[in-house]
Amino acid sequence: MPELPEVEHLRRSLGPHILGARVTSAALHRPDICTHAAPGTPASRALLAGECISATRRLGKQLAIMTPSGRTLCIHLGMSGQLLVNPRTPAGGLTHVHASWELAHPSGTVVRLLFRDPRRFGGLWTFPRADLLDAHWAHIGPDALAITGEHLHRHEGARARPIKSALLDQALLAGVGNIYADEALFRAGLAPQRSGRTLTPDNWHALAATLRTLLAEAVEAGGTTLRDYRDADGRTGNAGAAHAVYGRAGHPCLRCGTTLETAMISQRTTVWCQQCQR
Ligand SMILES: [Zn+2]
Repeated sequence: MPELPEVEHLRRSLGPHILGARVTSAALHRPDICTHAAPGTPASRALLAGECISATRRLGKQLAIMTPSGRTLCIHLGMSGQLLVNPRTPAGGLTHVHASWELAHPSGTVVRLLFRDPRRFGGLWTFPRADLLDAHWAHIGPDALAITGEHLHRHEGARARPIKSALLDQALLAGVGNIYADEALFRAGLAPQRSGRTLTPDNWHALAATLRTLLAEAVEAGGTTLRDYRDADGRTGNAGAAHAVYGRAGHPCLRCGTTLETAMISQRTTVWCQQCQR
């Protein structure tokens, strides 16, 4: 599942292809993957046909495409969603293409953009005004790339649930999934089963700082290699090689050599080192 680094890398790689371009056509091939905030609007119009693309935004794992009129398109990649620019595969060669756009730059360059999602856990939301995007995002916590120890301590410091579960809660902080939750807890030296109320303010500050550093590094590396993940240019990420615990249950800890443990926490496979994480 794409996490914050993959979506931020996608946002950055998308910019040069779409910013400043006008949407000359837009088509929705699977209406059930799209939620319209203004139901009477034709799908192509809701999907920004006729608009210029002025900016992109991201919160956690969601991406938004903004226009000067306020019309906004929000994209959630879910488990397997992809936003592809000028795919090399010929038209008709790609399955599960749920929406498509054609954009024209003032220079005359034409760009074809596709949203595909083989497993259909992602989706599109359209908004006639930008403030409706803020309302859509109001239930999501602050972005993990800017998370603070104060915020985590204030909201989680008295709670009994495992810190691994807290990190996966998008209402507490946005953008962390299973991979970066395990990696951050390893780097911070905290056992995933620890409950929030056992952490000191210093623990929360260290965890927040670790998350910010880890996620920023992963964004720079182009996101994790996931089977379905592609950036706007169709490239896979290469941060996977840097994982210390994710996917390494039963292997020796890179720091101390102890065999890494695994258990299910919040129905997600969790991997940690008993020796390095307390
Ligand atoms: Zn260890």
